[in-house]
Amino acid sequence: MKTRHPGPAKVDRSFRPDRALEWAMGAFVLFGMLALFIFVRPQPPAELTSANAAQAMLDFRENLPTASTASRIGQVTAGAAAADVLEVLGASAEDAEAAVAALRQTGLVDRKRMRPGTALTAYFDESAMQDDTSRLIAVSIKPDARNTLLATRQADDRFFVSVLTARMMTSHRRVAGEIETTLAAALTEGGGKPGHATSLAALFPDDAALAAGGLRGDRFDAVFEIAEDERGNFIENGDLVFAAFNGTNSHGSWYRYTPGDSGRTEFFDANGVAAQPFLTRFPIGRVPINSGFGQRYHPLTGYLHLHTGVDYRAPAGTPIQAAGDGVIAFIGFNDGYGKHVRISHKRGFETLYAHMSKSAGLAAGDAVKAGDIIGYVGDTGSATGAHLHYEIRRNGRYVNPMTLELPSGRNLASEPEEYAAFLKQKAMIDALRGATVPDSLMAATLLPVVHTSSP
Ligand SMILES: [Zn+2]
Repeated sequence: MKTRHPGPAKVDRSFRPDRALEWAMGAFVLFGMLALFIFVRPQPPAELTSANAAQAMLDFRENLPTASTASRIGQVTAGAAAADVLEVLGASAEDAEAAVAALRQTGLVDRKRMRPGTALTAYFDESAMQDDTSRLIAVSIKPDARNTLLATRQADDRFFVSVLTARMMTSHRRVAGEIETTLAAALTEGGGKPGHATSLAALFPDDAALAAGGLRGDRFDAVFEIAEDERGNFIENGDLVFAAFNGTNSHGSWYRYTPGDSGRTEFFDANGVAAQPFLTRFPIGRVPINSGFGQRYHPLTGYLHLHTGVDYRAPAGTPIQAAGDGVIAFIGFNDGYGKHVRISHKRGFETLYAHMSKSAGLAAGDAVKAGDIIGYVGDTGSATGAHLHYEIRRNGRYVNPMTLELPSGRNLASEPEEYAAFLKQKAMIDALRGATVPDSLMAATLLPVVHTSSP
């Protein structure tokens, strides 16, 4: 097998007085290059409109020496990284590496590997062929819907990257109709994305059929945000702002709103009541937390381990309530948890309540409702004092009860300022839906076909 690189040349690294001038000159040139690099470092990207971005690309192309310039297009795949693609298109390995390294410095492309599917356009000066490779003079890529990066070769052979960022406008799209195969398919057909179906189904946690895709003939109505450039060209899909469903097993409509005080985006019904809390974070009410979820040194063993739940401090005997509707999966005792109860809920959730002094006379298989008393705080098992150790597991994995996204159950109607802001948002959404008859979207006004509207 033939190697492309010759063996290393012998280098004399010893210092000789008659070479002192050469050394000084070398240091001077090196210093100069360093200074130059510091002064010509890429500037932070300016906010350009996409029209300007398009113009900048046109200017760039117009200034290319057309007679000898060739542009070739390639695509990053699972097996070919960006530098490999540039080499396949005709660049030398050195140029390909340099251009990709410069593109990475923007922080807008993945550090390790560009996303498969990312398109690259490479520009070559064909008049300067060397060892079967063309001279790479520029590379443009579109790492996401908003940005275009253009790496151009400078006189010193470095690549300088310009970031062209399109200004985005938010518009809305409505998709309503009947499920034929799955909700995800119906939404995607109307220009939505599968994630919209997941978000919609999450608003109806009791409907297992909807979670599995929905039933044929079930009706839905969804409004979601879309990002457009200032000419109205579609850039990408955003989140749901409205979701309604009228199915075999459940129905209702939900408006997205972000209360000013909590800053947490939630869905509320037409009267301003938040979606029912699926599980509470506080099975013994708002009491102090002794220890949160995460890595910690165990108070008894002294070893670092994952604390799989939250410890609430409360006197022995404090009643513990079921965090949500479910079925008792286990009641019993072990060394660590002491006397404990595990409840399984819908959607793969389980909650566990440990160190109880006693349970409330329930048995495995019993159904419980949110708020039912299932036992009392104690210090059984491995506990240093009376407290409730509360765990939430999702599909068998421990999750942090404090950061898990759970709706709050808040009622905006009791807060005049928030309620007014909510009603304004609701009116905007209703106008988008063309819903002149309040809450009757599920009746004859529902369009059987996909319909698009912008504000
Ligand atoms: Zn604990």
